[in-house]
Amino acid sequence: MTFHIITIFPGIFTSYFNESILKRAQQKKILKINVHNLRDWSADKHHRVDDRPYGGGAGMLLMAEPIMRAVKTIRSKVKDKKLKVVLLSAKGKKWTQTMAKRYAKSENVILICGRYEGVDERVKKVVDEEISIGDYVLTGGEIGAMAIVDSVARLLPGVLGNEDSAVFESHAQPGVLEHPHYTRPEVLEIAGKNYRVPKVLLSGNHEKIEKWRKLKSKKV
Ligand code: SAM
Repeated sequence: MTFHIITIFPGIFTSYFNESILKRAQQKKILKINVHNLRDWSADKHHRVDDRPYGGGAGMLLMAEPIMRAVKTIRSKVKDKKLKVVLLSAKGKKWTQTMAKRYAKSENVILICGRYEGVDERVKKVVDEEISIGDYVLTGGEIGAMAIVDSVARLLPGVLGNEDSAVFESHAQPGVLEHPHYTRPEVLEIAGKNYRVPKVLLSGNHEKIEKWRKLKSKKV
């Protein structure tokens, strides 16, 4: 699967995408992440991609044309009829694990990262889905793009060491949260009080452990 990210700050992604599971997924060629600098599609000699909003008001907007040219170029290169074009937006549909599962079936997804006051509304003519990662306002779409890539990548076959970990995680079934986990030490002292690992987890009785875990997983 390939993510094509359009941003004016490509450097933001370098560190996160080159560590841990996402790094391994790319090395194994299960996942490809192409980060594109929107300024490469600017028609301006100073590589400007923003302008003032009509009607006045604070802040600048990313212009529609460079974004539309970027989408068109990527579309012509990947030749994927099912290519999904996504705009990160505080006004979008809230991202969920169910959506991550749906996206994990795609081969190509373009993620457009807004900045400043956002993007020229007409960009939406080339967008399939507008996605928000929560009811708050971020400075740019880059964190949202990272959240989407990360949550989708974990669902691609072969990415996680133990395939089961994506199946039994929180939200794998809508509204179900995973049971609590414990590791060593068996007894942990916090502010003079001892906190023990639940006995059942030390019993070695897998049937009982499964029962306890089911009981402790929450429905929200
Ligand atoms: N003026 C916009 C509004 O009130 O909805 C906010 C613009 S925000 C400062 C700049 C960019 O950050 C947006 O265009 C979008 O790409 C991204 N962004 C901000 N909040 C987001 C969220 N909750 N989810 C996804 N992207 C977000």
